[in-house]
Amino acid sequence: MSDLLEIFNTMEYGPAPESPAAVYAWLDEHQRKFGQFINNQWVHVEGADTYPSIDPATGEKLAETSQADQAVVDQAVAAARNAQKDWEKTPGRERARYMYAIARNIQKHHRILAVLESMDNGKPIRESRDIDVPLLARHFYYYAGWAQLMEKELHDYQAVGVVGQIIPWNFPLLMLAWKIAPAVATGNTVVLKPASSTRLSALMFGEIVAEAGVPPGVVNIITGSSKAGSMIVTHPDVDKIAFTGSTEVGRILRRQTAGSGKRLSLELGGKSPFVVFEDADLDSAIEGVIDAIWFNQGQVCCAGSRLLVQENVAETFIAKLKDRMGHMRVGNPLDKCIDMGAIVDKKQWDTVDGWVKVGQSEGGQVFQPDIDMPEKGLFYKPTLITNLEPAAETVQEEIFGPVLVSQTFRNPEEAIALANNTRYGLAASVWSENINLALDVASKIKAGSLWVNCTNLFDGASGFGGYRESGFGREGGREGLHEYLRPTWQERPRPEFAVPESEEAINQWGTAVPARPLMPNGDGRKSDGVDRTPKMYVGGKQARPDGHYTRAVLSPSGDLVGQVGDGNRKDIRNAVEAAHAAHTAKPGWAMRHGYNRSQILYFIAENLSARKDEFAKRLRAMTGKSAKDSQAEVEASIDRLFTYAAWADKYGGTVQETTLHGITVAVNEPIGVIGIACPDEEPLLGFISLMAPAIARGNTVVMIPSQQYPLTATDFYQVLDTSDVPGGVVNIITGDRDHLTKTLVQHEDVDSIWYFGSTEGSYWVEYESAVNMKRTWVGYGLPRDWFDAEQGAGETFLVEATQVKNIWVPTGE
Ligand code: NAP
Repeated sequence: MSDLLEIFNTMEYGPAPESPAAVYAWLDEHQRKFGQFINNQWVHVEGADTYPSIDPATGEKLAETSQADQAVVDQAVAAARNAQKDWEKTPGRERARYMYAIARNIQKHHRILAVLESMDNGKPIRESRDIDVPLLARHFYYYAGWAQLMEKELHDYQAVGVVGQIIPWNFPLLMLAWKIAPAVATGNTVVLKPASSTRLSALMFGEIVAEAGVPPGVVNIITGSSKAGSMIVTHPDVDKIAFTGSTEVGRILRRQTAGSGKRLSLELGGKSPFVVFEDADLDSAIEGVIDAIWFNQGQVCCAGSRLLVQENVAETFIAKLKDRMGHMRVGNPLDKCIDMGAIVDKKQWDTVDGWVKVGQSEGGQVFQPDIDMPEKGLFYKPTLITNLEPAAETVQEEIFGPVLVSQTFRNPEEAIALANNTRYGLAASVWSENINLALDVASKIKAGSLWVNCTNLFDGASGFGGYRESGFGREGGREGLHEYLRPTWQERPRPEFAVPESEEAINQWGTAVPARPLMPNGDGRKSDGVDRTPKMYVGGKQARPDGHYTRAVLSPSGDLVGQVGDGNRKDIRNAVEAAHAAHTAKPGWAMRHGYNRSQILYFIAENLSARKDEFAKRLRAMTGKSAKDSQAEVEASIDRLFTYAAWADKYGGTVQETTLHGITVAVNEPIGVIGIACPDEEPLLGFISLMAPAIARGNTVVMIPSQQYPLTATDFYQVLDTSDVPGGVVNIITGDRDHLTKTLVQHEDVDSIWYFGSTEGSYWVEYESAVNMKRTWVGYGLPRDWFDAEQGAGETFLVEATQVKNIWVPTGE
């Protein structure tokens, strides 16, 4: 070991080890063997399989943990269920006190939590002590506040119920906080499963919960393999699954929960760009890169793992970066002067190393600095790979380790195109001293967190979550509350649908034989003159159905009320293309300001109002409703257009009160192209209640009107034509609902599907959406009162029409 004088002379870091004594004492107290934490007690199951917790830096076995089987999962879910009703009824101000007690206890046990986290995961104590544990406490403080305010501020909502939560190994405590804090604050109870390689800190957290006096059963923590995870996901008494992990497993969960009525939020993988413009403060940006990719050994979902540097500064920047990498310190995670600790386990180490070899084989130049490395333990050098093509696998796939790939760009357009050239969309970092440029680029990159001249910032007050295959749902902030709340009018949907046993069934769903002439049962055609068959509406123009098939629309008494085109896959593809073009046009629908969109919605309402008698008559003829009910539906539709004209410029976002010295803005961005399958009940009101919020918030839509009663929707395109709606913003394809929906769900360029058809269709929409993890909102074939202000126009419609992007901008010199 160096003596003081030597350290002084060389100015090298001396060793600064953190003591593991308290952690060892805790492990010994448990005889280094843990059971399951259920009902605030340790449950030891006789003969249960066990799994070792290993310190990746030393290879030392820290403890044995138990593998949950079905009986354990059932016991934990039953405990959560028993506790849930009382917990939900506990006044918010009391729940807030429990949350506060948890937060305080975290602070009181700060050090042991940090040391345990570093020993179990391999992350530097500097990070677990200064980032993970403080953020753990922060989340419980933040959501204690929402528990206190819930009755007043969220009175239209209730708890979802029992929540199954599954987390990964990279931030065991932080992921736990993101999941448990909002859930229990809002009256839910939880069963949480940590990842196999990092279980210990979650188990210690269980003791903290018990110490805080939280009622038994509110927080249950069970350890087990992916099989136990699957048992939680498929448990019939679980009302929601909140998952953080890989996109691959997220896809499995989407399919397993399809059609069950369980809520699902998915926080998945990423390959986030780190964009450096020529006018950036390059030295600051270098420190930014170090933090972006080598924080937690690069095992960070939002790691800035794709470096994009403007061509004319790239050589200088890469040279500086290599030099800086040469000063990184890799070693014992419990040493306070260490930059990078150990990779979590051997399997992950091999995966990372495998990817570096792929990079080499793809023609990449691999750079690893000549730095001291520990002789044993799962350490990996910080690695930079240059000279890769944009389509290279190492550029496209998440490596989840200390490996940075780098590319160059010439101008902002190219930077944005490269940044968005990914199936993910979790985060991005933009570096430029030109604030106008930086914010413009930030607004155009499709990702949930945008850091301007900073990186990897998190806070309880700001939501975190992905676009596209990075998942859906947000954790943190007010937006994170929606994941754990259900409108008060709505029961937990429990659709009765037997899940098909074979995957072959997917080929069957949505198959349809094109329509043919239909003999009316009644008196025949009920029309007052010349035959008029409406066409489809695509890109602002009437379009004949591609297949040249026509469907009859019959009244309840069997009279022929009219005919519409019978759409097919090609019609849907044309409509998606038109919707996409309207979205990306310059300026696209999303880029128009809210004032403009609101004026257009008012204009639609005005034009519908001018023809209200005609629409009422049509409704009456199609549905057999009374004249009064038909008029009421038209009036309610006009009112709904007014509602969303109002919301068009009032739901843009908020300033978040994070700990950043600067500004964190939550922007409610449109989702993109939404495919909407409308209900048969209230064919006009249902259509407008779904279309209006979507377009008010800047989305473009492909509407599949009521299959049974489509004529008010086809009449409606004349209203759109006269209301200044740009072509492609609303596209209308008539035909078999499920047949058309299937093409929409499978389409890569559709960002979200809203489906209000059958129970079976709801299942398939959720199941098939896993292909590219598009967002879905389905009705499970359950009734909904479209006239009701909450059911037909509640906040859910706005939430479903938007995705939150948080932009972080530090201020000061
Ligand atoms: P993972 O393999 O998907 O595992 C995550 C969790 O799911 C673990 O608890 C795992 O249990 C469990 N699991 C695995 N298969 C399952 C199944 N079929 N059913 C139910 N549960 C199952 O991911 P990981 O390797 O632990 O974590 C790395 C990934 O997480 C990366 O892709 C990263 O980007 C992502 N991540 C995302 C965020 C975000 O907020 N978006 C944050 C952190 C990490 P076992 O450990 O027992 O296998």
